[in-house]
Amino acid sequence: MSESADKNRMGRISGIIKRKGWESVIFTVLLTAALFLQISVSRNTQATTAALSNQGNAIPASVPEDLPDTRLEIRDTYIEYGSSLAYHLGENGISTTDTMGIIDAVRDFINLRKVQAGQKVELRYENNYFEGIMLPVSTDRDIYVTRSGGDGFQVIEKFKELDTYPVFKEAVVDSSLYASCLDSGIQDNVIMDLIELYSFDIDFQRDIQKGDHLTVTYELVYNEDNEVVDTGNILFTTLKTGRQDLQIYRYEDSEGKADFYNENGQTVRKTLLKTPINGAYITSAFGPRTHPITGFSSVHKGIDFGAPRGTPIKSSGDGTVTYAGYNDVFGYHVRIRHVNGYTTMYAHMSAFGRGIRQGRIVDQGQTIGYVGSTGMSTGPHLHYEVRYNGSHINPSRMKFPPGKTLAGVEAELFHNMLSSYEVSLP
Ligand SMILES: [Zn+2]
Repeated sequence: MSESADKNRMGRISGIIKRKGWESVIFTVLLTAALFLQISVSRNTQATTAALSNQGNAIPASVPEDLPDTRLEIRDTYIEYGSSLAYHLGENGISTTDTMGIIDAVRDFINLRKVQAGQKVELRYENNYFEGIMLPVSTDRDIYVTRSGGDGFQVIEKFKELDTYPVFKEAVVDSSLYASCLDSGIQDNVIMDLIELYSFDIDFQRDIQKGDHLTVTYELVYNEDNEVVDTGNILFTTLKTGRQDLQIYRYEDSEGKADFYNENGQTVRKTLLKTPINGAYITSAFGPRTHPITGFSSVHKGIDFGAPRGTPIKSSGDGTVTYAGYNDVFGYHVRIRHVNGYTTMYAHMSAFGRGIRQGRIVDQGQTIGYVGSTGMSTGPHLHYEVRYNGSHINPSRMKFPPGKTLAGVEAELFHNMLSSYEVSLP
């Protein structure tokens, strides 16, 4: 494949993506069809129906007319905070023997210690006789515990058919990117993933303006009743701002490892995140200022992000915690050493993240602490500093070399995937 042909195709894809109005509706429909063909492998292939196996096989030659109707009664109950499945059954009038039988049968199928408050438990009665329970344990799995003669109970797992279909949405920024995406019907968790994906390239305070245009194609998971029960992966997304025209594609390599790439097959993940906190706004930028407490003018060596107390603070990059402690200026703060001579510091925390202490290895995006106002601080915020080879730099101006680039067979497969998106188009 020649490079210019390649570029041409990219141009066409982005051109198509940028179109608006009725054309984008057609685009959506066709794209959806193409993606459906690609990913209809979906989860239902795994949905082995281990269910109710001897139903519907033998039809009895004659049905005795005087057989009483089986009356099934189902009571929906929900486990309360601080309770357990065993306690819950006892509370609902199930005998100790039956409760023990159920617990015994079900413990190989679910982790009883992970049964949480709010878990639904269907109590099932036949002709007023307690027959067992049903637990919906995930969007695609129900567990039936039914009487198997005497005091014994057996477990039947029923897998529900789930189908995954792509959906296309677009948003034009009005007040904020987040609010505009919500208005376009994009689910909250998908927006969070989008923000994380773009946070390597976009400074949300500085770069996003009214009129900027985002598109996203992602998976929705439907149950047998055609209800959306979950969101799946983001498949691709574009963001056009005054300065940048970004395209991000999800690609699963031949070893099954999925990551996000730009149209040239370069990973979008970079050394450090520009914004180590979600939903924050900058209250004090890098540079000269008068300190709000001391009143002295000085150079602000970091960025202050305003955010509610308790907001999770993420590690900007993979690295090692070199300090997690307290002093009068920064309060509870964490320092992390990254590759290529970068270090970061996060101050005024209310608490450290789980297991965060000196020497701990952390991943990019891992929660290392929570917003607070400890040390010399006038209110809850994150003071964030980045140093490069020991000198403070402005985090919002950081530029990083591109990450790894797909090569060889992987590059070919990646470009085939992009072509398959295009094939569906007029
Ligand atoms: Zn600060």
